[in-house]
Amino acid sequence: MSKKHGKHLPGQSQDGGVTDAPDRHQAARARVPSTAVWAGAADAIAGAVPAALGGHRPAPIRVAPGIVAVEPGMRIDLTAVDADADGGLDKVWAKDALGRERERISALQERLYAERARSLLLVFQAIDTGGKDGTIRSVLKGVNPQGCTVSSFKVPSSDELDHDFLWRYHAKTPGRGMIGVFNRSHYEDVLVVRVKELVPDPVWQGRYRLINDFERLLTESGTVVIKFFLHISRDEQKKRLEARIADPEKHWKFDPADLVERKAWDAYQQAFADALSQCSTPRAPWLVVPANHKWFRNYVIARTIADTLEAMDPRFPKAAKGIADLKVPN
Ligand code: AMP
Ligand code: MG
Repeated sequence: MSKKHGKHLPGQSQDGGVTDAPDRHQAARARVPSTAVWAGAADAIAGAVPAALGGHRPAPIRVAPGIVAVEPGMRIDLTAVDADADGGLDKVWAKDALGRERERISALQERLYAERARSLLLVFQAIDTGGKDGTIRSVLKGVNPQGCTVSSFKVPSSDELDHDFLWRYHAKTPGRGMIGVFNRSHYEDVLVVRVKELVPDPVWQGRYRLINDFERLLTESGTVVIKFFLHISRDEQKKRLEARIADPEKHWKFDPADLVERKAWDAYQQAFADALSQCSTPRAPWLVVPANHKWFRNYVIARTIADTLEAMDPRFPKAAKGIADLKVPN
């Protein structure tokens, strides 16, 4: 990965605000030049509509080492991002560390929910077999279901197609206090829709701007948006498709159409690169996660979510005056 994707912006500490980094991770970070962090996000939103944020300072997204953040205005070259990267981390250590990140997410979610002022939207995009379902299952294990909504977007219904393309996604964005998860997202409308030529070119081309406007609306309304692109290699997809064919318990996941889609690998990579480049903004940057190693993918994503929630600093609401002195009647 070239240096240009690993820039630190002013106001952000060189360690990216990373917390509780063990020595091993520190060492790994030194060998991963691709990490980028945006404090710029906070500055970009600050002062925009503070009233809508309920007096909360917009929080920067804290990107875990090993993830490549797409710098706004730059073109991402996905072939230059090693899908096999593991940051030099030890697998056993990372699995343990994932447990600790889950606990952090769980504790911070309780505060976010109680505060009921802001929300967090996690967007997951990937090629078929890229690991969206597995990531959501693993990373959000400790989350209170009552404070979380997961939306999986499939082929649109005729009712959905009768509306503007963002309609069905906007309806599923998280309300105050909630974590929302998008398994596939509004990006499908510049990905599969483009590759399969479901609309004329000028239509999907115009959607990048509309997507940026949509995400601007969300971030200026108190929603922190983290977008993860799970990056696997072509060989890894072959292995995963073969595993689905070989294991009867994985047959339900196997769609023969995936083999047809695989033939369009290059077209999808092109569409992903364009979408990530056009729609990585300081408010809502795109994060490319090396995802051939599931344990690495899960750990860095969990850590990014925990660190970002921590930066949001959700607080329990102030208790009513004199509550500690109240007596519960018999
Ligand atoms: P899966 O996620 O494997 O259950 O598959 C969902 C399918 O829905 C995938 O083949 C997607 O490409 C397709 N899909 C999702 N969103 C759209 C969309 N906006 N337009 C067309 N197809 C879509
Ligand atoms: Mg599928």
